Amino acid sequence: MKFSCFSMLPFLLVVLILSMIGATLAVSHGKFLHCLQFCSSNSSTISKVIYTQNNPFYSSVLNASIQNTRFTTPSTPKPLVIVAALQISHIQSTIFCSKKHGLQIRIRSGGHDFEGLSYVSEVPFVILDLLNFRAVKVDVKNEFAWVESGATLGELYYGIASKTTTLAFPAGVCHTVGVGGHFSGGGYGILMRKYGLAADHVMDAQLIDVNGRILDRKSMGKICFGPFVEAEETHLGLFSLGK
Ligand SMILES: Cc1cc2nc3c(=O)[nH]c(=O)nc-3n(C[C@H](O)[C@H](O)[C@H](O)COP(=O)(O)OP(=O)(O)OC[C@H]3O[C@@H](n4cnc5c(N)ncnc54)[C@H](O)[C@@H]3O)c2cc1C
Repeated sequence: MKFSCFSMLPFLLVVLILSMIGATLAVSHGKFLHCLQFCSSNSSTISKVIYTQNNPFYSSVLNASIQNTRFTTPSTPKPLVIVAALQISHIQSTIFCSKKHGLQIRIRSGGHDFEGLSYVSEVPFVILDLLNFRAVKVDVKNEFAWVESGATLGELYYGIASKTTTLAFPAGVCHTVGVGGHFSGGGYGILMRKYGLAADHVMDAQLIDVNGRILDRKSMGKICFGPFVEAEETHLGLFSLGK
C-alpha cells in the first residue's frame, strides 16, 4: 500500500490545527497564571490556592464538591486551573486575569448545580471555587446574619441554632447545598408556605462585579441585582419562630 504526501495532507492538517489549539491554550493558561501572581498583592498566598492540572491535589479539589457524578467522567471537560480563593483579592485577580486572557470563569459554591454549570464548560475555563468562604455570623439582637457564599445550608442552620432557639431562616432541605447557588436561584424549603423563599429574606449582599469592584446594597441602591459576576457574602434577615 502506497502513501503519497498528498493523501496524508488532511490528516496532517488536522494534527496541525489540533496542536495549534493546544499551543494557544497553553499560552493563555500560562499568561493567566503569570497574571494571577503579578496582580495579587501577596503572590505567595495566591500560589497556595492555585491548582493546575499538574498539581497532585487538582483532582481531589475538583471532585470534592461535584454532586452530579455524570460530570466526573474522563470525557467531561476539565478546568485549566482551579482557584480556591482565600481572600477577596484572589477573587478580584481571577476575574481580572480571566477576562484579560479570554478564559471563562465558572463560579462554584456548593457544587450542587444539576447541569454541572459551576464546574463544566465547553470552552477553556477556570473554576473560581468559594469553598473557603464559609463564615456564618449571627447577630441575635438585631435578628440578622451574614453568611459567605461557600457555606452550606447546614452550616447556616447550625450557626443560627447554636446562637438562638427562637430565630430561623427559610431555605432548602438538603443541608449540603451551597448558599451561593441556592440563594441566587430562589431557594425553597419546608418553611416556604409561611415565609417564602430564601431570596425573599436577603437584605444585603457584597458583590464583586466584572471590573473587580466590591459593591453592596448601600453602594448599589435597593434595586441593584444586575450583571454581577460574584456574590461573596450575603446579609440575611432572620425571623422569629412563632411570629
Ligand atoms: C441533593 C440536592 C438537594 C437540593 N435541595 C433543594 C431544596 O431543598 N430546595 C431548593 O430550592 N433547591 C434544592 N436543590 C437545588 C439547589 O438549590 C441548586 O442546585 C443550587 O443552585 C445549588 O447551589 P450550590 O451553591 O450548591 O451549587 P453550585 O453548583 O456551586 O452553583 C449553582 C449555580 O450558581 C452559580 N453560583 C454559585 N455560587 C455563586 C456565586 N457566589 N456567585 C455567582 N454565581 C454563583 C454557579 O456558577 C452555578 O451556575 C437541591 C440540589 C441538590 C443536588
